[in-house]
Amino acid sequence: MDRRSLIKNAGIAGVLAAGVAPAVHAQATIRWRLASSFPKSLDTIYGAAEVFAKAVKAMSGGKFEISVHSAGELMPAFGVVDGVQQGTVEACHTAPYYFFGKDECFALGCAIPFGLNSRQMSAWMIEGNGLKLMREFYAKYNIVNFPGGNTGAQMGGWYRKEIKSVKDIKGLKMRIGGFAGKVLERIGGVPQNIPGGEIYQALEKGTIDAAEWVGPYDDQKLGFNKVAPFYYYPGWWEGGPELDFFINNKAFDALTPEYKAIVEAAAAQAHGEMQAKYDAKNPGALKQLVGAGTKLRPFPTDVMNAAFKESMALYDELSAKNESWKKIYADYSKFRADQNLWFRFTEATFDRFMQAQKL
Ligand code: CA
Repeated sequence: MDRRSLIKNAGIAGVLAAGVAPAVHAQATIRWRLASSFPKSLDTIYGAAEVFAKAVKAMSGGKFEISVHSAGELMPAFGVVDGVQQGTVEACHTAPYYFFGKDECFALGCAIPFGLNSRQMSAWMIEGNGLKLMREFYAKYNIVNFPGGNTGAQMGGWYRKEIKSVKDIKGLKMRIGGFAGKVLERIGGVPQNIPGGEIYQALEKGTIDAAEWVGPYDDQKLGFNKVAPFYYYPGWWEGGPELDFFINNKAFDALTPEYKAIVEAAAAQAHGEMQAKYDAKNPGALKQLVGAGTKLRPFPTDVMNAAFKESMALYDELSAKNESWKKIYADYSKFRADQNLWFRFTEATFDRFMQAQKL
């Protein structure tokens, strides 16, 4: 070793010994708690919070740790917004539409019946006005949100009896996610808001007639096929529901710019991975379900049409009485119209052609 490299190496050693290291390692140690609205058994949807926490830890060199807690561990599945708002936990991972009872606008940040599909939702959030408008709204709840996954178009759920027309929806007691219940009600159904971990029992006992959750992979895990034979599509109320990380604004504001950037990057990673997981896992699960006797059925056209009509009427009513809804939905619906104008040509035609081929 020559003299020059000796000095150079001693220099590096000296710097390391003095504890001067890259900026990120000089950051304070941070410990956060994140409450999920989902059970641990769902690696897809619950798993997104773990992906997020793992990425935050790795990018911060182990200094920023987020412990992830399943539904019920720290607070109930539907208590997580209160938890973040009050600062009981720094973060949560949830489907915002569960909280439409506080304000219907929560649904616009997640899914509304006949809304945007997964790609369109990400486009609205990331490149359109979605994130800006939703952050303005969530600020009322001390929340800074980050898109944290999408399931893609969901299935229409499990039914103990066949649905032959919209008449069969009358009196149907159905577990349906959040805001969609408002439309189900308008076409005669009786919506029930039940957390994921409790649906199976309700369907098995017959306290409900039908239940929707997500799609083949998650639904199979929760075992709904064992207690209801008919599996309908599409989940017209969830063409592309977005999950979100909600972070308490004080906790977020207290972070250094580096940690803020890490949170943003980790959430983006979790957002992309969730859709990829669902797309990769659903086909195999659907094959197994059908192989085991599940009866796959499209919703009758009159059910789709009645639900569509009632959804649009509901949105008009909300625009007349909820100022925030009016503002956000005006932007959302214009974006939706443009997206469908575009997707109907090459995207939809390509997909339909490919799906009709023997591959
Ligand atoms: Ca659902």
